[in-house]
Amino acid sequence: MAGGVCVLTEFQDGDFRKVSYEVASEGKRVADALGCDLCAVVLGSGIGDKAGVLGKYGVSRAIVADDERLANYTAEAYVPVLSEILKELEPDVVLLPASLNGKDLGARLAAHLQTGLAMDCTEFKVEDGTIKAKRPLFAGKCFGWYEWDSSARPQIASCRPNVFERTVVDEGASAEISAVTPAVPSELKVQVVSVEKEEGGKIDLTEAEVIVSGGRGMKGPENFKMLEELAQLLGAAVGASRAAVDAGWRPHSDQVGQTGKVVTPNLYIAVGISGAIQHLAGMGSSKYIVAVNKDPDAPIFSKADYGIVEDLFKFIPIFTEEVKKAKG
Ligand SMILES: Cc1cc2nc3c(=O)[nH]c(=O)nc-3n(C[C@H](O)[C@H](O)[C@H](O)COP(=O)(O)OP(=O)(O)OC[C@H]3O[C@@H](n4cnc5c(N)ncnc54)[C@H](O)[C@@H]3O)c2cc1C
Repeated sequence: MAGGVCVLTEFQDGDFRKVSYEVASEGKRVADALGCDLCAVVLGSGIGDKAGVLGKYGVSRAIVADDERLANYTAEAYVPVLSEILKELEPDVVLLPASLNGKDLGARLAAHLQTGLAMDCTEFKVEDGTIKAKRPLFAGKCFGWYEWDSSARPQIASCRPNVFERTVVDEGASAEISAVTPAVPSELKVQVVSVEKEEGGKIDLTEAEVIVSGGRGMKGPENFKMLEELAQLLGAAVGASRAAVDAGWRPHSDQVGQTGKVVTPNLYIAVGISGAIQHLAGMGSSKYIVAVNKDPDAPIFSKADYGIVEDLFKFIPIFTEEVKKAKG
């Protein structure tokens, strides 16, 4: 294949991460607009014929590099393997997830292939046969449209998780699988020895559809139990502002914002969070924002779709009871 659109997926623990289907779906929309084919590259271990599922999302061919040294992302193994495959494929456009690993991978890959990268994109459009990418600037205060220099190939862009709709284009379709022997460097300086997951099967903040987040207004770590109960009822993940993390009330992995995680859930409930610009940078693109704050002038209300001016210690227990009743 020369030309066309290629998506890079994330395959972990025997399955695709949800964001892979989002990127494949957007890849299909871009490929249709450009009038070309869509292929996918799948790196990982124990993939077998699972890559066929990408066909549902419009991928016609999946190039699979199945190797146990690719089970977990390391730049040292992934970048040369992908560079080799992409040099062979020569796609015009490469889309990948703007996940934690994807952000690292995209930048390294672009440098390796000496091309341009648009990071953390939230929209694409094709005009006169050229792809353009929209991405946030100045911690999400505004957005800019970008295009690649005509000499830059492939045009690489990473897609912000939870922004692009997953679209099944053909339920019965299966991608044709081409297995390749990956060019993993023989002596890896860095190897993943083990992966320790957080206990309790916590929902990953970056993939959560609903997030309940608490800030300094929670007054102490013990009060987060309230948010955990509500989150459990809503099938939500629990997040936190930096103030709550710096106070040692929550682990850093829960922090949402400029120096934490960027999240885009359907519903973000901010409880006792003022809405500093650095916090908004991490959750401002959520589809619906609900803010609970006793200060009517808190900046979070300028971003919220629904605002509750109330003491959170009064509101959250009542709201939780109502959710329980609604769920029967
Ligand atoms: C370089 C840099 C990077 C940063 N990165 C991040 C980041 O990634 N994420 C982040 O969150 N912050 C970040 N910050 C910090 C940020 O500027 C704010 O200090 C922080 O977000 C404030 O957290 P907060 O809203 O929980 O606390 P506060 O600003 O203190 O707000 C607490 C809110 O709780 C309300 N409240 C208090 N009691 C109650 C009650 N009983 N009922 C209802 N409401 C109540 C108050 O009215 C207030 O609005 C960063 C700062 C810098 C300089």
